[in-house]
Amino acid sequence: MIIDSQELEENYHASADVVIVGSGAGGAPMAYKLAQAGWKVILLEEGRNNNPADLNRNSWEAMKEMYRDSGMLATLGTPSIPLPLGLTLGGTTVINSGTCFRTPEKVFAEWKEKFGLSEVQYADLIPLFEESEKMIHVQEAPYELLGTNNQMFAEGARKLGLHGRPLMRNVINCKGAGICAFGCPEHAKQSMERNFLPAASELGATIITSARAEKIITQKKTAKGVEGSFLDAKRKRRTKFRIDAPVVVLSCGAIYTPYLLLNNGMANCSRQVGRNLHIHPAAKVIAMFDEAIDAWNGVPQGYYVDDYAGEGIMFEGFFLPPAILSFALPAMGMKLKKYMADYRKMAGFGIMVTDTSHGRVIKGLNHSPLIFYNLNETDTAKFVKGVEIAARVYLAAGANKILVPIHGIDEITCEADLQKLHDVKIKPGHLELSAFHPMGTCRMGDDAKNSVVNSHLETHDVKGLFVADASVFPSSLGVNPQMSIMAFSLFAANYLLKNKSQYSV
Ligand SMILES: Cc1cc2nc3c(=O)[nH]c(=O)nc-3n(C[C@H](O)[C@H](O)[C@H](O)COP(=O)(O)OP(=O)(O)OC[C@H]3O[C@@H](n4cnc5c(N)ncnc54)[C@H](O)[C@@H]3O)c2cc1C
Ligand code: SF4
Repeated sequence: MIIDSQELEENYHASADVVIVGSGAGGAPMAYKLAQAGWKVILLEEGRNNNPADLNRNSWEAMKEMYRDSGMLATLGTPSIPLPLGLTLGGTTVINSGTCFRTPEKVFAEWKEKFGLSEVQYADLIPLFEESEKMIHVQEAPYELLGTNNQMFAEGARKLGLHGRPLMRNVINCKGAGICAFGCPEHAKQSMERNFLPAASELGATIITSARAEKIITQKKTAKGVEGSFLDAKRKRRTKFRIDAPVVVLSCGAIYTPYLLLNNGMANCSRQVGRNLHIHPAAKVIAMFDEAIDAWNGVPQGYYVDDYAGEGIMFEGFFLPPAILSFALPAMGMKLKKYMADYRKMAGFGIMVTDTSHGRVIKGLNHSPLIFYNLNETDTAKFVKGVEIAARVYLAAGANKILVPIHGIDEITCEADLQKLHDVKIKPGHLELSAFHPMGTCRMGDDAKNSVVNSHLETHDVKGLFVADASVFPSSLGVNPQMSIMAFSLFAANYLLKNKSQYSV
């Protein structure tokens, strides 16, 4: 059953075998796996059960309805970085680009070396990737759906001898409608509310939307359930609820899981809750061509180039509707107007950095955490290199002008202009970035002194309290994270199934 809390009585009180908080890439597979084994599952989701097709392809409306703080969440630091999160049934998977990568083996090996992770081997994850990929229909984007935007970059990359290819994506019958980040109006993107969640519901799970968990109930360092508030249509608290359960799984994402733990003063003997935040900072490079590109036609993130992934630099496609892109261009006033008049001739590609910089989430006021993050010099240098490579690719593809996300650097129109990137020392504050992949704030590891959860994702400090979301990754992943989150969540669910008797389920 998927039900909005407004249909439930005041002071709702229920019991279950497990209560899961959050319905994104972490919470949804957990709910499915445990419901499949006959567990009584209650999943709480603060957002509503939205249908992107109802939002009339209006990107501002979609952000207001399905993004936390209408998409205005940002880090504090240099530079300040917008960090959008989903607030809807299905979590951030509903507003993501649909790109699917497995955890790189090299990154997993580094985690093992540094943090032990004694209970999990890479081979254990492979069937879990396969299970998730099957459930969410992962397949390579067909070249013809990439649109001219991705194809132009592919052409330039090929001329420079780089090795790009279409991305793997979770879709069925994708039409290349081009607005994945605002909810797929065609229901092509297979985000969590299209597979794991309805399947869990059919297997008996109760999924309650507009339900915000606030308090984790414990007794003698053992989880006992969750209390919180049911929200009204304006997202204000309507009434309290309580769910009793011997297993509590937090899947609120890498910002709101540590926030909830910090608010409860819980699972933080290591003092690592909220620390070690990585975000995969990203920059946009825009190219202008003489002819129309019509970059909104096709899959926005359909192609990637990973020749520099070893240096922590990934190139992945992107494009945005005009109302949103106008905020992202490095110009104002008449100059911005002139650029926007050439919207049809624009192409765009993203640079994503595997960050060595790290930040921290702390408690703020009014159900809003504060997110601190400063970009370091090492990561800044990766952006400068990434921008130069992307600009070279676009020049090779025939662009007449390239707009770079670096304050103080004007248009690049030829190879000689690339020297501008080296004439001044580019500092973190000069970069215009955004980020989409927060992770690391409840990192996993064997040592309770420097990690929050063990490798089956149970907190070291509280028996029966688990974290299954992007918080658990010990370092910057280097690839888009949704598949890794799903696989680790299924791994923890399998642990629970094997060790059920420990939890009085
Ligand atoms: C624009 C954009 C594009 C992206 N593109 C990709 C991509 O192409 N590929 C990829 O792999 N990744 C992508 N990502 C990232 C990916 O979607 C996330 O990493 C992933 O969804 C995180 O999963 P999660 O379970 O950690 O958290 P989320 O998916 O964010 O789920 C957390 C859920 O918990 C709910 N919640 C929070 N606090 C509470 C509470 N107290 N009570 C009840 N509910 C609560 C939230 O409302 C939310 O629904 C993208 C992200 C963005 C923003
Ligand atoms: S490209 Fe369009 S149809 Fe395809 S998943 Fe994205 S929004 Fe949906």
